[in-house]
Amino acid sequence: MRPLEFILNTLFPPRCSSCKQEGAFLCKSCQKELKIKPISPYKKKEKEFEYLDGVIYGMDYEENPAVQAAVKQFKYKYTKELGKSFAKVMNTKIGELNMTKNKDIELVPVPLHKKRYNQRGFNQAEVLVDYLAKEREVEITPVLKRIRNTSQQAKLKKEQRHLNLKNAFLLNTNFVHKKDNIIFLVDDICTTGATLENCAKALKNGGAEKVYGLVIARANK
Ligand SMILES: [Zn+2]
Repeated sequence: MRPLEFILNTLFPPRCSSCKQEGAFLCKSCQKELKIKPISPYKKKEKEFEYLDGVIYGMDYEENPAVQAAVKQFKYKYTKELGKSFAKVMNTKIGELNMTKNKDIELVPVPLHKKRYNQRGFNQAEVLVDYLAKEREVEITPVLKRIRNTSQQAKLKKEQRHLNLKNAFLLNTNFVHKKDNIIFLVDDICTTGATLENCAKALKNGGAEKVYGLVIARANK
C-alpha cells in the first residue's frame, strides 16, 4: 500500500458498498452473493441489434442488489477500486466464450463526452478497460469519440434513447481494423443497448467485422 493510500484508509476505512461493513468496498460475503450468470449460447436468429453482434454480461442488474450498490458507488462516488472486481467477472466471461479461443481481441471503452468527463473526473468504461487489459494481455483501442453531449440515457424513455444517441459517436480516422480481431465495446451497464449499438455502428462503418458489447450487468430493457 502506498503511504497516501494507507493514511486515507486509516482515516476513511473503506466500507462495503452493499452491506456497509468496514474493510472493503465490496466485502467477501457480498462478493459471494453476486449472481454470476453463465454465458448463454449465442444464436444468430436471435440477433437483437443491427450492428452489435451481441452483449456479453456477467450479471442481471435487477436480480442483484449487491451489484446495484457497487455500480452506483463505482460511478458516482469515484471508487475506482471496485472496477477491479468487475473486470475480474468480465474477464471470466471472455474466457468462457468459444469464439475468443484463437482470435485476438481489442478493448474499446465507450467514451464520455468531454464535459461529462470533466464533471466526473474519470470515465468508468476506461477504468474497466484498464483493469481488463491487466487481467489479460490485450490491446486497448480508444478509437471512439463522443461528439455530442447527449442527455443522460437513464433519464429517457426507451424510444427516446436511440434517437438521443444518433451520430453521437465518431471513429478516429486512424482506426485500422485488423482482420479476424474481435472488438469488445466496454461499458458498465447495458439497458436498451442504444449506446453500444451506436458505438458499434461507428466501428462497423469503419471496417470492423465483429463487435460485441461487454458490460458488468444487463438491466431490463
Ligand atoms: Zn458487504
